[in-house]
Amino acid sequence: MAALAERWTTRQAVVTLHSFDGDALRLYYEPLPGAPVTTETLDVRPLFTELPELRRHRCDNGRHRSFFDEARSTELAHLLEHVLIELLAQRGRAREDIRGATNLDEAPACYRVRVSGWHDAAEAGECIEKALSLLEQQELWV
Ligand SMILES: [Zn+2]
Repeated sequence: MAALAERWTTRQAVVTLHSFDGDALRLYYEPLPGAPVTTETLDVRPLFTELPELRRHRCDNGRHRSFFDEARSTELAHLLEHVLIELLAQRGRAREDIRGATNLDEAPACYRVRVSGWHDAAEAGECIEKALSLLEQQELWV
């Protein structure tokens, strides 16, 4: 398990490993004080340019919205979930074998993010780092 860090800090959030069990990764996502909780003040389009298949993600958001519409006003933790799913799919994992969920753990702002379908912890660690750097890129933070 040495391959998987226990905490990642970005300019927007602290992400903590809850567990990596079987093929399931569980993270906590906590926005830093003053950092946005949702994507409403972000421009997510550069992310969809970088990861075009994100547009085709199915998302059970209860509002029958496409993921592109959803992504423009959703929690950053939920966006992280979908980016992790996409990076895992890019590594050749069949999309139907990947599952994800994001839930509010504790008000006002601690989220639980779960993504399953990983081959191993090292792969998860690499994708977490890539996903967080994609979410940190300046183009999003208008
Ligand atoms: Zn979703």
